[in-house]
Amino acid sequence: MWTRYDDRFTSARLWDPVSFEARWHYLALVEVCGSTGRYDGVLPVNLAARASDVPDPGRCHDELAAAGVLKVDTDTVTVVTIDEHIPPPGEREENLLPRKRRNTAAYRKRRCEAGEHSRHCPADTCPVKLSRRDMQRDVTPDDAGLPRGLPATPGRDGTGRAVTQDQEQVRSEEEQEHAHERANDDPWSATP
Ligand SMILES: [Zn+2]
Repeated sequence: MWTRYDDRFTSARLWDPVSFEARWHYLALVEVCGSTGRYDGVLPVNLAARASDVPDPGRCHDELAAAGVLKVDTDTVTVVTIDEHIPPPGEREENLLPRKRRNTAAYRKRRCEAGEHSRHCPADTCPVKLSRRDMQRDVTPDDAGLPRGLPATPGRDGTGRAVTQDQEQVRSEEEQEHAHERANDDPWSATP
């Protein structure tokens, strides 16, 4: 990810009494907070001590505390200025990917609802996908003796039982509804 600091950061007067080592250590503390997802700025003191290669991290912590940028407790230190340096919530890695997925899903749902169906349509709501699933369930190679997806011979439902008038009606309507899928403008072969 990234760490940021203001372009007046280095010249800020708060650093005047702070040693170079402690300034360097401060940057290292900020990076550890960001890279380990500690967005509240709280670090275990042992981890904080290893953040940089300064010879005396404890003294650096005290200096930074005196400058007002670090809070030192028994087991933790807290970078109190952490918000100035880390990505805001919407730009954090763990939030970016789920947001992208949500946007993509919403976009595909909108297209589907507008009648622009594709193989990316949401499977649980797309009417085309749902009726395709129904058709595949109705006609299987075993019960119809026909390749999957082809309509059964009229008058049979593939099980040897007689087919009622209503079932014939439904089947014929489905065939009409999906006629375009067998034509050249098959939307399922379209690239997204
Ligand atoms: Zn759809």
